[in-house]
Amino acid sequence: MERPSLYVVATPIGNLADITLRALDVLKRVDVIAAEDTRLASRLLKHHDITTRLMAVHEHNERGAAQKIVQLLAQGKSVALISDAGTPAISDPGALAVAAVREAGYPAVPVPGANAALCALSAAGLAAPHFLFYGFLPAQAAARKRELAALKALPYLLVFYEAPHRVVASIADIAAVLGDMRKITIARELTKLFETIHTCSLGEAAEWFAQDANQVKGEFVLLVDGAPAGEAADDGVVRRVLAALMRELPLKQAVKLAADITEARKNDVYELALRMKKNPD
Ligand code: SAM
Repeated sequence: MERPSLYVVATPIGNLADITLRALDVLKRVDVIAAEDTRLASRLLKHHDITTRLMAVHEHNERGAAQKIVQLLAQGKSVALISDAGTPAISDPGALAVAAVREAGYPAVPVPGANAALCALSAAGLAAPHFLFYGFLPAQAAARKRELAALKALPYLLVFYEAPHRVVASIADIAAVLGDMRKITIARELTKLFETIHTCSLGEAAEWFAQDANQVKGEFVLLVDGAPAGEAADDGVVRRVLAALMRELPLKQAVKLAADITEARKNDVYELALRMKKNPD
């Protein structure tokens, strides 16, 4: 360790062997490892015969822990930061500690490795040139649907993280808001025993889960196609045009004209019109 630094170290997302040589070297040589869950970390460290001292840094103590890390650096010590799985600060704590360290004038050194989103993308075989990493959708259905409506017109593959107890409800909402036709790749339990990567349409996903109750277990990355070419680039524009036309015309006529004007897909405009009629706000 040349100078006191915070090493931001990626750890496995399942298979304990998915850790780089450099990560193991850093974890052995630092003075302290700041870990999201020290018990989980001990398991990983034991597996690799590492005995470095641990301290806890999780979402409930991150500010205080960040200050402790800065103090350790001030004493000339080096610290590694790890989360429960994958890359720290990606849908995980870590960003506050890194910011505090950098603000105090010490380097934050990335030691890259596993990340569930990139792992899923690498094996999904999707030729999308761009993707948008969203992470976890809101847990509550109404907020989730609002977020999805804001994402609907984006022409980028959408990358979501999801927990097993919400995955079916979330996919149902994704289908309801983005339409049944888009493709989804469900990447489950990556690098683990029951690793599954399944692609189908959003409309078919519920049936796929219903066929095998085991498919709902574990951890999930969901890759959902972006808005198809031709779909209006701005859902807000479609909504405004449609609202104006619906005030003057019967629904069917308003939908047809709004689709013509905005070049959005007629089915999508029709679905939007039904939602707007049901819920005018
Ligand atoms: N920092 C991690 C990373 O770099 O990917 C993400 C941590 S986030 C708290 C945990 C979520 O990541 C899970 O709920 C799941 O959506 C996704 N995830 C983590 N490990 C996974 C795995 N082995 N297979 C599929 N998804 C996984």
